[in-house]
Amino acid sequence: MTALAGHLRRLIAADGPIPVSRYMAEALGHPEHGYYVTRDPLGRDGDFITAPEISQMFGELIGLWCVDLWQRLGAPGRLQLLELGPGRGTLMADALRAARVRPDFGAAVAVHLVETSPALTALQQDRLRGHDVTWHQSLESVPPGTIVAIANEFFDALPVRQFERREASWHERLVAVRDDRLGFVLAPTPLSPKLLPASLAAGPVGSTFEIAPARQAVMTALTERIARHGGAALVIDYGHARSGSGDTLQAVKRHAYHDVLSDPGEADLTAHVDFEALAEAASAAGGKAHGPLSQGAFLGALGIDSRADRLAAGSPEKAAEIRQARDRLVAAAEMGRLFKVLAVTRPDFGAPAGFETAP
Ligand code: SAH
Repeated sequence: MTALAGHLRRLIAADGPIPVSRYMAEALGHPEHGYYVTRDPLGRDGDFITAPEISQMFGELIGLWCVDLWQRLGAPGRLQLLELGPGRGTLMADALRAARVRPDFGAAVAVHLVETSPALTALQQDRLRGHDVTWHQSLESVPPGTIVAIANEFFDALPVRQFERREASWHERLVAVRDDRLGFVLAPTPLSPKLLPASLAAGPVGSTFEIAPARQAVMTALTERIARHGGAALVIDYGHARSGSGDTLQAVKRHAYHDVLSDPGEADLTAHVDFEALAEAASAAGGKAHGPLSQGAFLGALGIDSRADRLAAGSPEKAAEIRQARDRLVAAAEMGRLFKVLAVTRPDFGAPAGFETAP
């Protein structure tokens, strides 16, 4: 049994079954045994790989997107470049390097990173040495000001609550101890019909839906800053463009799917991001949502093909590897379709780069 499984069993013994959101929050963020707190999960030797770790092109194109956005803001003399969940710091390092095309952007920027993992913070410190960087445990301590915020595979790690349809009503899914193992049960009290999206009211018995108040809260806080001080947010993650039913909670360990309850704290745990819900949170907080676009369409619009050609021309021995990385990022069967990109700005701001034709 993992140390965290022991902790969860004691918690459940004391308090009763816990919501899936609490399970997820403990498994990922427990201050001593949480998955992200204890390790660097990224890369070939870890559990999963992310876009910035696949290729420098990803962070570079996002860096240029940030420069373009800053220009559209009127090139303010001060800008907070904020990243939520920066992992190894690779995206930010690649973005800042690409952004050197406009030295005055570099002079205006102060980098702020929101990161709870001590292991990853140490890697970020290493990676971003020489830059003006401030770390934060949460968005709250980031000082006010115009921001451009980036979040790649951050929202998927924030906890979801799950509900399941029974004959007469919907019930929250909880984690309990059954037969000496962690298992799912349903809360006896039905969910208030007021909390149920109208489209799901008639869902078949056994269907599931997810809500993520923690994600909505972050989106609301980001948008309020943008509405007040100007700027933009760019959210990239896997998920769906429209809210819908389905159980998307998944665990991944060593690049393979894993049972979600069997090794808490030792496997990554995520759920798909509901981009419609994020866009609604942004609109409700006084912002304008652009997209979501597929990652393939977004990177295509930003010019990943010409960047790949340039890189390949510069290092012919790596040409095949570069093309392969490009395909992984944009091909529909790889990350190109499942991953989506949403931008948030003030309502009076035009479409950011790449979003000109977005819904
Ligand atoms: N953006 C990076 C890493 C993605 S993994 C990349 O694309 O490679 C998720 C990141 O979010 C990690 O850095 C993790 O430590 C961080 N994280 C997870 N939950 C968090 C939380 N509640 N608050 C702040 N950071 C969190």
